[in-house]
Amino acid sequence: MSKGIDRRQATRLLVAAAAGTVAGTPTWALGQAPRYFEWRPCGAGHVAIGGGGNALLWPTPFGAVLIDTKIDALGSTMRREAEAVAGRLAAVIVTHHHSDHAGGIPAFSADLPVHSQSRGVGRRVVAGRELKERFVGGVPDLMERLLADAPQRVAALVRADIQAYARAVGRRDVQSFAANVTFKFEDELEAGDDVIQLRHSGRGHTDNDAWVRIPEANVLHTGDLVFNGTHPFIDVDTGATTSGWQRSLSEIIEACDADTIVVPGHGEVTDVEGVRAQWEYFERLREAVQAGIDAGRNRKEVIAAVPPFFAQLPERHAAENLDIVFDELGG
Ligand SMILES: [Zn+2]
Repeated sequence: MSKGIDRRQATRLLVAAAAGTVAGTPTWALGQAPRYFEWRPCGAGHVAIGGGGNALLWPTPFGAVLIDTKIDALGSTMRREAEAVAGRLAAVIVTHHHSDHAGGIPAFSADLPVHSQSRGVGRRVVAGRELKERFVGGVPDLMERLLADAPQRVAALVRADIQAYARAVGRRDVQSFAANVTFKFEDELEAGDDVIQLRHSGRGHTDNDAWVRIPEANVLHTGDLVFNGTHPFIDVDTGATTSGWQRSLSEIIEACDADTIVVPGHGEVTDVEGVRAQWEYFERLREAVQAGIDAGRNRKEVIAAVPPFFAQLPERHAAENLDIVFDELGG
């Protein structure tokens, strides 16, 4: 599939997938095997919670589409559970290159189209090289910690998945860690009358954020352009800017109405108000930092003067975000 096409492209990959076996009846009711992720109904689909950012599994007449894949070592678990919930998969979309969303790609990329914004590919290749190193000599402690609270039957299944992943990861081609279909600004997957739209609105949380819209169902996955109920992680090292992030959010808000179901990258499923709240977060953060700069405060003083609206949020990333905006505003 062509890479970096600078215009709208309708890929119709789901139709191509239908030339094989048409997916059977979704197997929502067959959920007897223990599951690691919490699969919460969301419109006609499901949101998978835990083990990374929120993933959305959406059924189409030609197979299900999975949006985001969880962390690297949980990719196989994700695939097994997604197929148990929705039957055969037709395609995967990743919202950006961060490992808690795109890490699971190797479990899908050998036999399925995996879509991402084009800049995400190089970043996943770099991550793939690191992952190959990380698993040398066995399964990192982090992976065991992931299983600490899992019921025993679930933990046994997932541990086997992770061990199989760890055994094979060193031999993997680094390209298998990355998407195999890319777009620059817009793309569409078509499955009969169903359309899934992919959009990149410029730099936001990273330089390769995609947000995904299913117009017929009025459902939207924002990736990490929305953190619902926490401070967002502003990844300046991979091109994040808060002004660009706000522009992306404005485009998402325009695509929503009062009934749109919004799946954020992290936090509870929300609606357009959750998107507006993220936009407001940056507005108020910038106002607070600008007021500090105007009052002649230095970086340390601006970071110490915690804006009152921060009190509603957990502390993680609070000081960091003040620091980043101090730089952005030329303080
Ligand atoms: Zn992220």
